[in-house]
Amino acid sequence: MHISLWQNIISSISKSIDAHRFETWFRPLILNQSSDPSIISLSAPNQFIADFLDQHYKDLILSHATIFSSSITSIVFTVSNSNKSYQLYDTPDLEPQISSQIKNNAHVLNNTSSYPQLNKRFTLSSFVVGPNNQFARSAALAVSEAPGKTKFNPLLIYGGVGLGKTHLLQSIGNNVLSSFPDKKVTYITSEEFYLSFIDAIKNNNTKDFTARFRSSDLLLMDDVQFFSGKESTQEEFFYIFNTLYQNGKQIVLTSDLPPNSLKGLQDRLISRFQWGLAVDIQPPDLEIRVAILKKKAEEDNLNISEEILYYIAQNISSNIRELEGVVIRLLAFASITRSDITIDLVKNVLKGSGKVEKVRVSIDKIIEKVAEFYKVPVNNIREKNRRKEVAHCRQVAMYISKEITNNSLKTIGLNFGGRDHSTVIHAIQQIESLKNTDNYLSSDIDHIILTLTN
Ligand code: ADP
Ligand code: MG
Repeated sequence: MHISLWQNIISSISKSIDAHRFETWFRPLILNQSSDPSIISLSAPNQFIADFLDQHYKDLILSHATIFSSSITSIVFTVSNSNKSYQLYDTPDLEPQISSQIKNNAHVLNNTSSYPQLNKRFTLSSFVVGPNNQFARSAALAVSEAPGKTKFNPLLIYGGVGLGKTHLLQSIGNNVLSSFPDKKVTYITSEEFYLSFIDAIKNNNTKDFTARFRSSDLLLMDDVQFFSGKESTQEEFFYIFNTLYQNGKQIVLTSDLPPNSLKGLQDRLISRFQWGLAVDIQPPDLEIRVAILKKKAEEDNLNISEEILYYIAQNISSNIRELEGVVIRLLAFASITRSDITIDLVKNVLKGSGKVEKVRVSIDKIIEKVAEFYKVPVNNIREKNRRKEVAHCRQVAMYISKEITNNSLKTIGLNFGGRDHSTVIHAIQQIESLKNTDNYLSSDIDHIILTLTN
């Protein structure tokens, strides 16, 4: 198979699943040369990833592959023995040069723009409704059925972290695109808006920048609280807002707080945010948490008993992203240990997010296992190698050393080529903050700890 064909397939996959899953399971894959056009042979960096993809993602890959080539009938995985195959957190440009011919056939690739694409996973049908979010969902539905034509302009959805604001916002975009394929939908986070605006100023093309927003039929702006204190960005957005509003275009915004509690935003913006409808999303109650877990488990083909679902839902009350995290971790645990999902396994997984019991294992052993997992040479972890993926592995190894052994920060630093204890602190903080946004990193770490302690 030709590499450009694979690039089209992988690009299509990247738009259909969330970024964490993509980074974990798909980014590291390398296409093997094969003479048989009906087979895609992919090389994974380790057996774990190969097995996991084989069990859970084969059909997905196949379904995307057949968009581009009807002759592909099977996907096989091999394990690579090259050291540099696992490119952690690098972001090579995956956007392929899509030939116009393929573009026309592939509905998944329409609406191409340099701004983030809508994630196809975020739909109203995958959004579990409960008393905590039903008003927000109804408003989202109404707006997506008649964008710009309801009284809900702008629609502002607000609520805490991980409660489904982005999901709902993107659902509106996906819904509008499927009912009105000609409408121009722009989704952007306020942070990206800000960064692109700064770029536009630097490159002297603010005209083009505003033009693309002003020509939208539907503008979806995520996390507007980020505009706080950014005066000229707010001003730019204010004019875009006015143009769109006057032309009867739909604007939907999300924020972490209700409009009148947003700090650092100009009054004239806040008052405009209140012209339409502001709706909140509250944290889900137990029943809804169970329903959400059920849905996530289904999406991942994971069989979990009702009793276990309740157990998890009772133990995690904070946010839905965390609930999802548990499902992902369970999935990983179950396939690593090749065991069924039992209450004990769940307890283990839940415990993994809290304190871990200290064990007698040497830092050398930890470095060895981490190196093996990420396929980097052991020596690189100890030496002063600054390559991004090596630095990341080193931080993971330091983090695990702190988590599961009784060694002091100073001793840990000494074991990593005589580094200072402040470097170790930095590594631990770095990994802790990454773990908060990357459920797969948590499950990678669980996996490594599991191999060390069993
Ligand atoms: P926010 O933007 O509010 O921080 P997200 O929209 O990113 O939260 O939601 C976090 C995760 O939880 C997403 O993966 C999303 O799909 C999921 N999620 C949130 N609410 C629901 C819901 N009601 N039904 C199903 N999944 C949900
Ligand atoms: Mg969000």
